[in-house]
Amino acid sequence: MTIYNLGSVNADLVYRVPHLPGPGETLGAASLTHGLGGKGANMSVAAARAAARVVHIGAVGADGAWMVERLLEYGVDTRNIATVSETSGHAIIAVDDAGENLILIHGGANRAVPEAALDAALADAGPGDTFLTQNETNAQVAAARRAKARGCRIAYAAAPFDAAAVTEMLPFIDLLVLNAVEAEQLVAATGKDLGSLGVDDVVVTRGGEGARWIDARGGEVTDVPALPVSAVDTTGAGDTFTGYLVAGLDRGMPMRQALNLASRAAALMVTRSGTADVIPDLKEIEESRL
Ligand code: ATP
Repeated sequence: MTIYNLGSVNADLVYRVPHLPGPGETLGAASLTHGLGGKGANMSVAAARAAARVVHIGAVGADGAWMVERLLEYGVDTRNIATVSETSGHAIIAVDDAGENLILIHGGANRAVPEAALDAALADAGPGDTFLTQNETNAQVAAARRAKARGCRIAYAAAPFDAAAVTEMLPFIDLLVLNAVEAEQLVAATGKDLGSLGVDDVVVTRGGEGARWIDARGGEVTDVPALPVSAVDTTGAGDTFTGYLVAGLDRGMPMRQALNLASRAAALMVTRSGTADVIPDLKEIEESRL
């Protein structure tokens, strides 16, 4: 079936610097690389790398054509990415010689997804399809409402954490994915434990400790260990995990099998530097023997 992913598309501008600049400091960068990023784009690429049919819904500015082309190259249907007057979303990332980073994100076009275009984007969506989203656009609630009405399964990564956004999304969600910090924030914000949110499946990613699946229907908790790798860069690990998880479920895998696939993909991802451009495909995961 199809995964409709409403999410951010960001240019990751990565500057190598001798040290992270302090307040008021002007600093020359040694190099600049342009990568494709944004939680939404990362998840679309991951799901497409997992051989799913993925329709990305979102927006870029006139300066974002290269990102749309790159998504297309990675096998994502980009026909529902609007071009709007705002500048494209981007992240300015400074990385120093010790690997420490400093990140500045501008939402830009991601915050200007035309809600009027959502009905057209979801026109063919129906039962059996999955709608996936995160918290980096302006339209997740409006789109989730439409997708739910069409009978889609709703998957939601509650990141970056925003208590008001999650609370608004909760009534629509079938699958909630969040990291350990976001899970704590959600429990604090709602006063409920993760099995009592009214969401059937909750998956908490726990970095090098693996992932935990809470099946709220039966109250069962299942831990999936992380695979042993030497981590180089954990950026995008969570997005890779989520994209693969949703793709596995879309293909009809039972949850445990989809979680195992997602863990293998995310483990290989943490051995690589970069974001969307380096998300592994199924063949690479197979060859890695993870
Ligand atoms: P990010 O924001 O960096 O994308 P996140 O905080 O959303 O990450 P994490 O919980 O750090 O997500 O990681 C997601 C998944 O990636 C984990 O559940 C695990 O399967 C895998 N993973 C992360 N770190 C490691 C590691 N050091 N070794 C093996 N697997 C890892």
